[in-house]
Amino acid sequence: MTESLQVKNPATGEPVQEVRINSEEEILEALKKGHAAFKQWSKVNAHERSRLLKKWSDRILEETEEIAKIMTLESGKPINESLGEVKYAVSYIDWYAEEAKRIYGRTIPANTESKRIVVTRQPVGLVAAITPWNFPAAMMTRKAAPALAAGCTFIVKPAEDTPLTTIKLIEMAHEVGIPEEAVQCVNGYGSEIGKLFTDSEHVRKITFTGSTPVGKHLIKNSADTVKHVSMELGGHAPLIIAEDADLDFAVAQTIASKFRNAGQTCICANRVLVHENIAEEFSDRLANEVAKLKVGNGLEKQTQVGPAINEKGFDKVMLQIHDAEEKGAEVLCGNQSDADREAGYFFIYPTVLKNVSETMEMMQEETFGPVVPITTFKAIEKAVQIANGTPYGLAAYFFTNDYRTGTFLHENLDFGIVGWNDGAPSAAHAPFGGMKESGLGREGGIEGIEPYLETKYLSVGNL
Ligand code: ADP
Repeated sequence: MTESLQVKNPATGEPVQEVRINSEEEILEALKKGHAAFKQWSKVNAHERSRLLKKWSDRILEETEEIAKIMTLESGKPINESLGEVKYAVSYIDWYAEEAKRIYGRTIPANTESKRIVVTRQPVGLVAAITPWNFPAAMMTRKAAPALAAGCTFIVKPAEDTPLTTIKLIEMAHEVGIPEEAVQCVNGYGSEIGKLFTDSEHVRKITFTGSTPVGKHLIKNSADTVKHVSMELGGHAPLIIAEDADLDFAVAQTIASKFRNAGQTCICANRVLVHENIAEEFSDRLANEVAKLKVGNGLEKQTQVGPAINEKGFDKVMLQIHDAEEKGAEVLCGNQSDADREAGYFFIYPTVLKNVSETMEMMQEETFGPVVPITTFKAIEKAVQIANGTPYGLAAYFFTNDYRTGTFLHENLDFGIVGWNDGAPSAAHAPFGGMKESGLGREGGIEGIEPYLETKYLSVGNL
């Protein structure tokens, strides 16, 4: 096992920083400390926990620019998106700083005069989180903030490609007075640390954002100690454009949904289904706009689409593009990516494909890249059938101004997040999460603190 992770800038391949890998002993010790600290942290009153969380968010905002720069350096994300992500990450801390004060119980009328029934909520214990590289700040705060607000202690293992943002944010939590044992970060390889987390009797909950296969593995490994699990897994978002849709708006929102972080988000539109009568016009308008997107190093202000996170990510997307081309898809824009790979870079040029069919890999599996496959439908029921025909159920989008079509789609799409004339639905105050193999549990909103709480029922008798 190597001693350190070499963080590289995906835009240039240059080394950014080395991060020491924690030894097994150190991680076991951290779990022990996190477990022991739960006794004190869970007793800190909710208003004080709230105050500390607010101080954490203020401290992060003071350093927005510096954190955004770190994020762009390690992830390749355009700097404007990194600046946006810092604010988005902070919005979760602010939201749960408030929710900390609203962890209510209830009383239940008893069926006899001699009893009283009281229901209270308690934090679950030490929470272990594993986070991905695509949102190095927000995927961590979405978990840490509700955990700490609820009174849980927290330990995170960030993705190997992007540990620096997380390390910085956790340091800031300590600076403002959140105890070091209450919120910790450890570094190393997912499979090794994941096993230590799931095997540990100190950890009461695993929370994970990442791929569906790894999520399934973590759920299985959590079974022996019956841990709570929250899973934000893969998506394969359909985006449906009805015949009556406002096309200019639909084009702009498709771009907003698809090209954020170079298409590397689990709620990015992955399949575009357009009514056959408007397909030609929509495809042309979209390709025309997509061809204008500026690809480049995320540190340059004008960049709109950065590189793939690494060679593996690049190859997966390009395989899907080639598979679609071989099976008859027509490329409307974005053909230069292979040449870049020859030169040792992993930029994928925003690509629009038409004549896409269901047999193509990109219609079956998450792409995680800046590629829009367009397919057509005649009846809206067929669009729903295609949309629902996968094991995934995270986000779905549709564009229509007809309330009957909209209501039908909302009620029949099997997805946890539905955007109706909205390509960017994520918000700290709303519940984010998937159905089917896209996950378990929700992050954000009043729902997002529930997974960190146990329910305790007290029955008082002999009154
Ligand atoms: P991706 O393929 O997009 O990197 P992963 O699901 O592999 O998605 O990675 C998301 C997170 O899961 C990362 O922090 C990674 O280190 C971690 N991870 C990868 N494999 C495992 C595993 N076997 N057990 C636990 N965590 C893992």
